[in-house]
Amino acid sequence: MTGEFELIARHFKRPARSAEVRIGIGDDAAALTPAPGATLLVTTDTLVVGRHFRPDVPADALGWKAAMVNLSDLAAMGGTPRWLTLALTLPEADDAWVAAFADGFRAAAEQVEAELVGGDITRGPLTIGVTALGETLDAPLTRGAAQAGDQLWLTGTTGQAAAAVAGLAAGVTPDASLLTRLDRPQARCAAGRAARGLAHAAIDVSDGVLADLDHLLKASRLGARLDADALRPTAAMQALADSLGEAPAPWIWTGGDDYELLVAVPPERAQTLASIWAEQGLAPLCIGELVDAPGLQWQGDAPTIDPVSSGFRHF
Ligand SMILES: [Mg+2]
Repeated sequence: MTGEFELIARHFKRPARSAEVRIGIGDDAAALTPAPGATLLVTTDTLVVGRHFRPDVPADALGWKAAMVNLSDLAAMGGTPRWLTLALTLPEADDAWVAAFADGFRAAAEQVEAELVGGDITRGPLTIGVTALGETLDAPLTRGAAQAGDQLWLTGTTGQAAAAVAGLAAGVTPDASLLTRLDRPQARCAAGRAARGLAHAAIDVSDGVLADLDHLLKASRLGARLDADALRPTAAMQALADSLGEAPAPWIWTGGDDYELLVAVPPERAQTLASIWAEQGLAPLCIGELVDAPGLQWQGDAPTIDPVSSGFRHF
């Protein structure tokens, strides 16, 4: 039986990567120095086995995703990710599993130049709690400052992760393009930073486009006119939908786990933002615009969506 401190020392403790980490893993608390004048952004999220991820997901993918879903919330605020803490609850001290998990977690953090600075390991049902800290020198992007007339832009297509979930539930191995979106999401940190100063409001799409748009609309006290044809299934999504005898529209509009950003940007700045996003390798899409009247209006045929299943419900 490997002890908690041994697991942490072996798999998580590394030399600090920046001088701003005055004290990292191994003391009673981390000691961090934010940039002078920076506003600190703090977000926390918990992943529970069977609820947020399937029990057989590879440990390195789980580590990657646990970090990325939190980094995505920093991206939505236009922040620069800096530090992460991790509370890991494990049914057993499986050394190989923890090693793979730590590798995935670290790879995700390093991709956005963030650093794990502390945490805790306990015994219990597999649960992963992560806190991410980021910084911004300017005002952070929020959900509540959108204006009527703003265009709604996504950093990329949605529904691929939900398609993978549907495939797995039906016993069909999803195409790698779909499974990658589910297991190895990418927080759009650079896209969020680019949106700060151009967009009025932003949110990351974790629970589905319509569910997260609803958060933005409520916070900004607005409604939206959506283009029903703006979001199309990828070829892999359409092929899977055909084989399952399902329509892809619910995956696209209500499927979760995409971690694209949804922003409200004034029309005169939209092309500037879209060009920057395209230079970052993204494929941005305009899906509609904001209107004063509350609720949703559709241009084109509104997708048929079961309102009960639309958007991830946390309780
Ligand atoms: Mg979020």
